Amino acid sequence: MTVLIKNVLMLGLKRRDIYIEGNRIKKVGNVREKADFVIDGKDKAALPGLVNMHTHAAMTLFRGFADDMDFYEAWPKKVWPAEARLTGKDVYAGTKLACLEMIKTGTTCFNDMYFYPEYTARAVKEMGLRATVSEVYLDTKSLHVTPIEEKKTFRIIEKVKKAGGSRVIPALGPHAIYTVSKENLRRIKEYSDKKNLLMHFHLCETRKENEDCLKQHGKRPVEVLEEIGFLNSKLVAAHSVWLTKGEIGILAKHKVNVVHTPTSNMKLAVGGVMPYEEMRKAGVNVTLGTDGCASNNNLDMFESMKISALLQKHHLWNQTILPAREALETATTNAGKALKIDIGIIGEGMLADIILADLKTPALTPNHNLISNLVYSTNGSCVDTVICDGKILMQDRKIKGEEKILKEAEKTAEKVMAKTPSGGGH
Ligand SMILES: [Zn+2]
Repeated sequence: MTVLIKNVLMLGLKRRDIYIEGNRIKKVGNVREKADFVIDGKDKAALPGLVNMHTHAAMTLFRGFADDMDFYEAWPKKVWPAEARLTGKDVYAGTKLACLEMIKTGTTCFNDMYFYPEYTARAVKEMGLRATVSEVYLDTKSLHVTPIEEKKTFRIIEKVKKAGGSRVIPALGPHAIYTVSKENLRRIKEYSDKKNLLMHFHLCETRKENEDCLKQHGKRPVEVLEEIGFLNSKLVAAHSVWLTKGEIGILAKHKVNVVHTPTSNMKLAVGGVMPYEEMRKAGVNVTLGTDGCASNNNLDMFESMKISALLQKHHLWNQTILPAREALETATTNAGKALKIDIGIIGEGMLADIILADLKTPALTPNHNLISNLVYSTNGSCVDTVICDGKILMQDRKIKGEEKILKEAEKTAEKVMAKTPSGGGH
């Protein structure tokens, strides 16, 4: 199939035609070719589909379930027991809802870590999005050391591949330094090298994590990870909040990708702020993510871009830190680089993951500075059209099967929460 977007406003404030052939962008400029499908771009701005680099997609089921509670009251007593009851079908229903929300807010690709990843993969495939999908790996529920079983891991990856098709890339999801032994982290890294798989990890989210690591290993988390050879460019480290200058240097040296998760960090009151400016200066590739819906509570990457920029400015008493252009880069180009996929840029030869913002909305008027408007003024509701892998997933904000997805997710959430002793999230 071919798609032609005519006369659309680009981020550089010039109007262009975008010609898509199959799943790639064939031409950007003045296009004379005829296309199977033509979109009038007159009142629209085109930008690369946004990439959410840290999700637990099915946690949409937990939206509003454990808010304004102490973490050690909410998570062990409400969230984790409910998670333990989840079935693959529940994960599927929750992920469908997540995908629906992502399409509606302009996200075309996400980096997920959760249970029953083959069900996540199936939902992604059906919804037409792109994702890297990993199973969350914890040593055991009681955190005893059990060697990672290669055969089991291999089976899961094969299942994810089969369920997800060409737009889903399987990855490895070692949870964190406090839930996976050094020995198993080393094994997972070896497996990642052997099969060329990305690793999705939680790093230095809380001060407690660092203190416990110092007590247990006599070193800081990044130092421990370097010592066991865990760090490289295939590692995507979410949060990365509580880091020393020395640790930032180590992350830069090994080309580790980090994910800024400002909304989740503030909601969970982790106290620290990801040292964005120091990371940028050191050359660390910084991307952006929402985290799961129990700690955000939405998947709107426009909102996260704004919050990321505001938090960094506020933190350093400096209005010039993390400007809108860089915020947009964390959600696009930097993510493409981290995932090693041809996304995040509207350019010839790139995969055709493109979103169109409706310029005829109050928040995008007047248009003195398009990127500023996109980051600081609007939110995901400005997205009018979503194209992923050359296919139109949404036009005029309408998505096929939307009501059914909402209904299924509602039903599933009720079922999962019904057994919570405190009577659910109400
Ligand atoms: Zn997380």
